[in-house]
Amino acid sequence: MTAKLIDGKAIAAEVRRKIKDRIDVRRENGLRIPGLAVVLVGENPASEIYVRNKCAACDESGVLSSSYNLPDDAPEEDLLALIDELNNDAGIDGILVQFPLPAHIDADKVTEQIRPDKDVDGFHPYNIGRLALRRPSLRSCTPRGVITLLEHTGEPFYGRQAVIVGASNIVGRPMGLELLLAGCTVTTCHRFTRHLDEHVAQADILVVAVGKPGVVSGSWVKPGATVIDVGINHLKDGSLIGDIEFDSARERAAWITPVPGGVGPMTVATLLENTLYATEELHN
Ligand code: NAD
Repeated sequence: MTAKLIDGKAIAAEVRRKIKDRIDVRRENGLRIPGLAVVLVGENPASEIYVRNKCAACDESGVLSSSYNLPDDAPEEDLLALIDELNNDAGIDGILVQFPLPAHIDADKVTEQIRPDKDVDGFHPYNIGRLALRRPSLRSCTPRGVITLLEHTGEPFYGRQAVIVGASNIVGRPMGLELLLAGCTVTTCHRFTRHLDEHVAQADILVVAVGKPGVVSGSWVKPGATVIDVGINHLKDGSLIGDIEFDSARERAAWITPVPGGVGPMTVATLLENTLYATEELHN
């Protein structure tokens, strides 16, 4: 079997086009245009690229983006004060603070400073709690984006065994909550999990988000599984690879995401979806 590719780039483009159509209708009806504030602290080259991509996606879809750059040594109070200002700005529907932050800034404090109804990254404990209680509001972008990719395969969720490798607050944990909500039986593996291969071999749906190339061998993949590779690893030659051994996994899976061109574009599209959701449902 050779797996079909889940084309994240194309699916994300379709989502962005639908968002643009909805924003065009809002404009025609004289309604407010969604506004996203993007905050970057310091000069991390990877973060600068992510921020640029997010702002470009906003421009293309008609979301008004505004960027705020603070110096690397900006005091934590300055960042918290800026977030308060944006929390109180009626033209701003979403606030995104690009991580990682410099070590002297408490990332949890920053996450909790953002008003939950403007938390378009979906990292605030309020929004994670809503998802855990089956009443989701703003949902973490990468896990929610993975659900959109899975929906496009047309494969069912109910009763399927989902295995997630990686248990971070931004990907693995909310991914487990999303798949549980979707009706899967969920196992979450992490750095202390024993016999990772045996867990992976049970997966009808496999999501890997670790950040280590080859952490999941293709030979472990259950024949016919749907395989989602969230990992992004930069090689010395400038290319990107995921966490799963792609070629051998593709021979066993039914569906698989490429890296790049799989989960990454969907994360950005979901950020725009969240911003429009905040405008339409939370700030109407
Ligand atoms: P993280 O470092 O915060 O978490 C990694 C997780 O992997 C931890 O829970 C850890 O316990 C687990 N882990 C480490 N070694 C393991 C092993 N040998 N076996 C099983 N589990 C192991 O990372 P993160 O922020 O969740 O990101 C993970 C990867 O996903 C990174 O490559 C990151 O760049 C990528 N990422 C991609 C997107 C996207 O949009 N495509 C978004 C977020 C993160």
